[in-house]
Amino acid sequence: MNIYAENETANALPFVSRIEDVFKAQCEAGLIRRGTFDRKARIAQLDRLKAAILRREDEIIAACFADFKKPAAEVKLTEIFPILQEISHTKRHLKSWMKVKRAMPTLGVLGTTARIQPEAKGVCLIIAPWNYPFQLALGPLVSALAAGNSAIIKPSEETPHTSALVADLVAETFSPDLVAVFEGDVAVATQLLDLPFDHIFFTGSPQVGKIVMTAAAKSLASVTLELGGKSPTIVGPTANVKKAARNIVWGKFANNGQTCIAPDHVFVHRDIALKFNDAVKKEIGRVFGETPEAQKLTPDYCRIVNDRHFNRVSGLIEDAKSKGGKITLGGQVDAAQNYVAPTLISNVTADMEISREELFGPILPIIEYEDIDKVIQQINANPKPLALYIFDKGKTLVDEVIARTSSGAVGVNLTVVHFLHPNLPFGGVNNSGIGAAHGVYGFRAFSHEKSILHDKHSITHMLFPPYTGFVKRLINI
Ligand code: NAD
Repeated sequence: MNIYAENETANALPFVSRIEDVFKAQCEAGLIRRGTFDRKARIAQLDRLKAAILRREDEIIAACFADFKKPAAEVKLTEIFPILQEISHTKRHLKSWMKVKRAMPTLGVLGTTARIQPEAKGVCLIIAPWNYPFQLALGPLVSALAAGNSAIIKPSEETPHTSALVADLVAETFSPDLVAVFEGDVAVATQLLDLPFDHIFFTGSPQVGKIVMTAAAKSLASVTLELGGKSPTIVGPTANVKKAARNIVWGKFANNGQTCIAPDHVFVHRDIALKFNDAVKKEIGRVFGETPEAQKLTPDYCRIVNDRHFNRVSGLIEDAKSKGGKITLGGQVDAAQNYVAPTLISNVTADMEISREELFGPILPIIEYEDIDKVIQQINANPKPLALYIFDKGKTLVDEVIARTSSGAVGVNLTVVHFLHPNLPFGGVNNSGIGAAHGVYGFRAFSHEKSILHDKHSITHMLFPPYTGFVKRLINI
């Protein structure tokens, strides 16, 4: 059912009623689609999305560049490739994910057949952040459609070029009673959160995650919260220093440090601290250039997204300096370009803002350690991180850190790339998130697992009163 004429889009309606109209249309169309939105139909929608992304690749690159000078190669690798990979992976596995699964009977329900049937949750809301503005708006949509849902997407207002492109791409690809986009800021998000969605998939800060969960409670909508936090990194005494430096520099400075799973700060063992610091400096020079002039010219160094965040990140450096932090590399800023040099800080103390806040910028605090117990205590004293990275050749340290800490994910001798593994659940724990995305985990986030128990020749009547020896024997199992 398309409630609009062919040349109309969700965005062509008067604004005030548009959100409610589209929501209502999605609810109604969803009821009609139930039972007919089969695997083939879902895959057809995913193919449409894929074709639109491929067709508009140059525009996606241009929009991300206009928003924060995001390098073209990074747009392809981190905005486009993950969605295309998610679509291919989903198409390959959707049949088995959608399969109705038999459940074995037990004594009390002998004579019945039991099955678990995944069903679409219904009308879903996807709220996206600005730091991967294309991928985090449309990536979750792949799972939502695969599970048979409709969706309303609200991209971030902080990356307006990409937001407009997402809206346009969706409007030309989908009927608004299946997928629609509403651009805007907190006011629009608040209006959307007033509606009784069946599921809310939110990516953003823990602070706003709490607002989303509170709003979801009004209609008891289920939530997936993909949040943030500080992801600690440990470089152990037997680490391959060069490899650690390369991985940490890429994970930290790609997207200008504006990555939810970027290594936030590094604990490096005292024995290799000097070598590690030198390796990181050398790697930054090799990849981005030795000087701010060179770094501003390289096409591979992104910028801070806007003035507000530029001021926040510059403020973090100033605060650390004023409290005795030592800038061992970088520290230069240029407000005209929202440029902050790749910055290394040592002499870090607990009273500095860099020790408390998620950095979300190209600042890497490096803290020497001697005793891993103290590092683990410090990690456990803070909210559970989204990712935790360990570099070490030995298994003992790695296993000990994994066993004694809690985090959304752990990367061993690498950073960030676990995001690209479609068979791993991607998500946080408590403050860093609830639920998971990607592959089958994304499909499950947008599905309800419906239990169906079917009586054929059961003895369930023996459970009814007057209670006989059967019930007494059963409950004493
Ligand atoms: P944010 O929480 O400020 O905003 C996210 C979205 O929520 C935006 O669309 C915004 O318009 C909306 N929003 C803002 N305030 C709102 C309110 N009061 N009510 C309703 N909606 C509101 O986050 P951000 O600054 O866009 O992104 C950065 C944060 O996102 C970081 O904490 C980062 O770690 C996290 N993040 C997490 C992941 C992940 O996968 N776990 C990925 C990317 C970013």
